[in-house]
Amino acid sequence: MSKADNSDKIIIVGAGSTGTSIAYHLASAGRKVTVIEENAVASGNTGKSSALVRTHYSNRIIAEMSLYSLKFFENFNSIGYSGFTKTGMIFPFDEKYADVARENVAMLRDIGINEQEIAPADIRKFYSDVNLDGYDYVTYEPDSGYADPVSTANSFMSRAKELGANLILKRSVRSVESTRSGPEVELSDGTKIRGEKIILATNVWTNDILARSGISSQKLLPITASMHSIIYLRRPEEYRGPKPTLWDPHQLAYYKMEGSTITAVGSLDPAVDERSVDIHSNLPETAEQDYIEEYLPRIAKRLPSMGKATLISTLNGLYDMSPDGQVICDDLSSEGLDSVYVFAGLSGHGFKLSPAYGRMAADMLMGRDPEECEFDWRPFSRDRFRTGNLITSRYSEIGTIY
Ligand SMILES: Cc1cc2nc3c(=O)[nH]c(=O)nc-3n(C[C@H](O)[C@H](O)[C@H](O)COP(=O)(O)OP(=O)(O)OC[C@H]3O[C@@H](n4cnc5c(N)ncnc54)[C@H](O)[C@@H]3O)c2cc1C
Repeated sequence: MSKADNSDKIIIVGAGSTGTSIAYHLASAGRKVTVIEENAVASGNTGKSSALVRTHYSNRIIAEMSLYSLKFFENFNSIGYSGFTKTGMIFPFDEKYADVARENVAMLRDIGINEQEIAPADIRKFYSDVNLDGYDYVTYEPDSGYADPVSTANSFMSRAKELGANLILKRSVRSVESTRSGPEVELSDGTKIRGEKIILATNVWTNDILARSGISSQKLLPITASMHSIIYLRRPEEYRGPKPTLWDPHQLAYYKMEGSTITAVGSLDPAVDERSVDIHSNLPETAEQDYIEEYLPRIAKRLPSMGKATLISTLNGLYDMSPDGQVICDDLSSEGLDSVYVFAGLSGHGFKLSPAYGRMAADMLMGRDPEECEFDWRPFSRDRFRTGNLITSRYSEIGTIY
């Protein structure tokens, strides 16, 4: 069995938007990094992402992270290409949520987010035939949009490599362990690589690695995998051209207007988030017919012209759901894995936050004082599920919007 000594390097397992952003932030701070990925950069859930970049969150910490990340995407050219496209986003709420949303807008503005109240009828400027049923209070974010998740992760990784990071592709990490000389990963061919620290940025696959590392089932992370389908449509003639994303919490769906001709329909239904799937079973790559038949009428009800759209394709991706819908960023020393860390449980909204997440995880791995860092990682520890200090949302009945 061969052994590589990288004991001066931080090892990152997983090259999705999370792992590559951590690599970029560490390399920018002059740290030595090795990234190990079993397939290709962005080949996991990052590559399936709708990659919406918005700042309408209902938890102050997350909203601050989303503003930081939005600004990062606006200036991404200094790193590479992210494909960030500013389209604006519209968040309409029904009467039940109107007061909560109003309070939330005040909080977002206080942080410095460009959140504008608009009259429901103003949506007609973008969508002439929109059905305004259940749209009682509407907010608009002109600065939000979407990015290209594959380009973003590859740009993070390329820049990290220019700064000295090492990328190992097509090698799977079997397990991690802590030895007296430092933490080690064992690859599936038996090769061991020692590092200074190791972080698992391996999304729904994190518990598999932990289980193979001897962590008992009761001590695994409280993460489940849920399957989310995206339906891609070609818009009819009257709906061509750039348009803002329209959230439709009333029907638990969102409609992302991509480029001039494509619309992606996704779900906001918490029941979908909560339905866990077995990631070791043969999961379908594309949406079930029942799902398509359920969601196409929703967009057609909201935007009647979209009833004439053509179905192009569908895909299924996985959300790594945590109990409060927020990431778990923690060290595993209490499980006997000294200098081993996890960053998982992003719960279906981790792409837009990847700049803030990478910064936060990098600061943690560099042993900085959390009080002096841009983002304090301690609220994201798994201990919050024991103490009840959850990262709460004002919109608990609307999945993924948080
Ligand atoms: C359909 C869908 C739509 C989404 N839409 C949005 C959105 O609009 N906005 C938003 O912000 N977020 C969205 N998300 C969520 C966001 O895309 C994810 O939270 C984020 O991209 C996850 O990144 P990651 O790097 O943590 O995980 P992944 O991209 O899954 O990366 C994990 C990597 O680890 C690797 N790996 C796993 N096990 C091993 C091993 N043993 N050894 C080596 N490598 C390993 C995998 O190959 C993979 O590349 C969406 C997600 C999905 C599925």
